[in-house]
Amino acid sequence: MIPDRTPLTHADAGLYVHIPFCKTKCTYCDFNCYAGQNRLIPAYVEALCRELELYGEQGWHATTLYFGGGTPSLLTPRQVGAVVGTARSALQLGETEVTLEANPGSVDEEYFRRLLDEGVNRVSIGMQSFRDSDLKRLARHHTVQEAVEAFEAARKARVPSISLDLIYGLPDQTLAAWEENVVRALELEPEHVSLYGLVVEEGTPLARQVARGKVRPPDDDLMADMYEKAHELMSAAGLQRYEISSWALPGHRSCHNLVYWRNQPYIGAGAGAHGCLCGARYYNELLPARYIRMLQGGDLSEVEREQIEPELERAETVILGLRLEDGISRREMTERYGEDILASHEGVFGQMEAMGLLERRGDRVQLTDRGRLLSNEVFQRLLPE
Ligand code: SF4
Repeated sequence: MIPDRTPLTHADAGLYVHIPFCKTKCTYCDFNCYAGQNRLIPAYVEALCRELELYGEQGWHATTLYFGGGTPSLLTPRQVGAVVGTARSALQLGETEVTLEANPGSVDEEYFRRLLDEGVNRVSIGMQSFRDSDLKRLARHHTVQEAVEAFEAARKARVPSISLDLIYGLPDQTLAAWEENVVRALELEPEHVSLYGLVVEEGTPLARQVARGKVRPPDDDLMADMYEKAHELMSAAGLQRYEISSWALPGHRSCHNLVYWRNQPYIGAGAGAHGCLCGARYYNELLPARYIRMLQGGDLSEVEREQIEPELERAETVILGLRLEDGISRREMTERYGEDILASHEGVFGQMEAMGLLERRGDRVQLTDRGRLLSNEVFQRLLPE
């Protein structure tokens, strides 16, 4: 049965499509992805298209499309095109940003050219490190050479916007090694870069290696130095930081991710995806085979739903907005929630200002440099008790 959340007229939402298939499983990964199940891909794509149609029937319009994973580049261009086409016909997706995460080792110039023909106009490449020893340790199934070749193939195919992901705080990574990584990434002249600090997620092989003392967990001070060094290098290269972990050339910010940071509605489609519509967060069935069966039966695969209380929703809007370089606007928050949140939470905002974590600039409230390094602490304080 389709849950009752039909908007009265059409409503706009970002669209995230999850592709939960990978060649192998990396040691640090706790995403919903599976190795050895690629045979399910054709039926999975059909199920995805059906899911998008069901959201279309509810009156949703998609404003952006993002293929994430897993490894979306395991799909053929034609399969990608089937999903883009359904998003256009069922969800009125217009001429807008369509991103696909591509893993080195599964792509070449011809693949990217065909993706462009199918409507993809932005590619995000999981580079992670420019040292083969790091990639091996993380059990990434590509080499540095393959990652650079993937980037160059996307460039030759004239993908209009290419983003790179790098991870810092890797086991035994020194500041000098990290600096070299950033320099090498910048030599490729990407339009966008996302940096992620390594997080040791419970239940991953990496967490077990840390527990056995085989790998040292990342050091907070070193991570902070790495972050600052990266920002210095990226700024010098003309990439502007517009969110805590994202830098872009002018005109190349990720429209899709801005939907999340502005706490706007988004549809999550695919196995293990979650979405946020009409004040509720919903979670899809994790297992691809079961997800396919549910859609074949004509139902959405939602297995859990959580109503977001208004107070939590407001706090999330503040927290996500503070991730952005220009922070939150007091006026926009008042228009959105009918109350001046800064005035009603003066205590907590004032305290963090005094601690040098937040600053006010006219109508805006932003994280300071120190606040950015201690952002988790700031966000914790802003959550309702
Ligand atoms: S390629 Fe990405 S999604 Fe797949 S196992 Fe590795 S980190 Fe996880």
